[in-house]
Amino acid sequence: VSTWNAVPAGPPDAILGVTEAFKADKDPRKINLGVGAYRDGQGKPYILPSVKKAEEIVQASAPDKEYLPITGLPEFTKNAALLAYGADSAVIKQGAVSITQSISGTGALRIGGEFLARHYPHAKVIYVPVPTWGNHIPLFRDSGLEVRGYRYFNKETVGLDFEGLKADLKAAPEHAIVLLHACAHNPTGIDPTQQQWAEISDIVKEKKLFPFFDMAYQGFASGSTSKDAFAVRHFVAEGHQIALAQSFAKNMGLYGERVGAFSLTTADPAEKARVDSQLKIVIRPLYSNPPLHGARIANAILSNGELYSQWESEVKGMADRIISMREKLYNYLQKDLATPGEWGHIKSQIGMFSYTGLTTPQTKALAEKAHVYMTADGRISMAGLNDSNIEHFAQSVDAAVR
Ligand code: PLP
Repeated sequence: VSTWNAVPAGPPDAILGVTEAFKADKDPRKINLGVGAYRDGQGKPYILPSVKKAEEIVQASAPDKEYLPITGLPEFTKNAALLAYGADSAVIKQGAVSITQSISGTGALRIGGEFLARHYPHAKVIYVPVPTWGNHIPLFRDSGLEVRGYRYFNKETVGLDFEGLKADLKAAPEHAIVLLHACAHNPTGIDPTQQQWAEISDIVKEKKLFPFFDMAYQGFASGSTSKDAFAVRHFVAEGHQIALAQSFAKNMGLYGERVGAFSLTTADPAEKARVDSQLKIVIRPLYSNPPLHGARIANAILSNGELYSQWESEVKGMADRIISMREKLYNYLQKDLATPGEWGHIKSQIGMFSYTGLTTPQTKALAEKAHVYMTADGRISMAGLNDSNIEHFAQSVDAAVR
């Protein structure tokens, strides 16, 4: 009998499973709105022209393939911190930000989870929004944290459950860790307003909670990298110490290159140095040191004024195309088709995703009858829509809800 005889089959990944079903469908009208990757107006993966230029610059410097240090490419992490915290950030000027390169956002979150599990001096409990990016839950659990939820989504209004959120954070034990999506909340596409962020910051302070920001979409939400960093910068300015996971998957389109960073704000350079040493001790047995190529690309963009400006306008281009698809979809449903229900949330939501309010049976019907694929919670990737398929999508949604 085989050694693995007793290994049970696990469930398929909720998001990647959608792509499997999509691939198996042979209908030419099929649409994949499952995966969170940007597509251009022709439905094709998009390599940013600034990334192509950056690759040429990297190539022209005839780089070697030596190992990076455990915490990655120092120029890259320095520039990643500036992008997140801002050029005038006091903690950066004080030399108090401990930062490491990571294997994209997922790796950053995991390094953070592992570090907190070892060194956070209070109960190792993390509160995540309900709902949240599905991977947060196993990721923090596998890191050794206890995962609990705080209310986030109001089904009735298809908006933020701000009262529920505040009540749950106020009821959390003192010093609990709280995971906050910095912008473009996944899966709902609903973000707190700046005023609401300020209130959340006050509660976090009052309850001595520890804020852990996941910033996977900086620039992708509004089209402005500094606007999307509002929450992170506000919390830091308010005197909070934070943990931050950054990803360059979406905003630079570097998905498979796995470029990210994890940082902690500390009290002073001496404390930062101690934290740095412990981050290395977390990372070394995991993967020794991170991959080179993507960090070099990201750094070529972040360190070159001209390329940086080009990149910012390309990020805005992606955000704007998504915003225009929201507008179009809203117009089809609310105006042209008079689809039953209220569809204002399609327009007010932000970032890659829209939480449509479609039910699981409706999403099933859409796949079977209309060849339209999305996750069972009714989340759609707006980036999967374009001028050629949006009408079919709107008509299919209309049929599904009638
Ligand atoms: N966090 C959130 C909220 C996400 O939506 C994603 C990707 O979908 C990630 C983190 C991590 O992505 P990656 O590891 O590709 O950077």
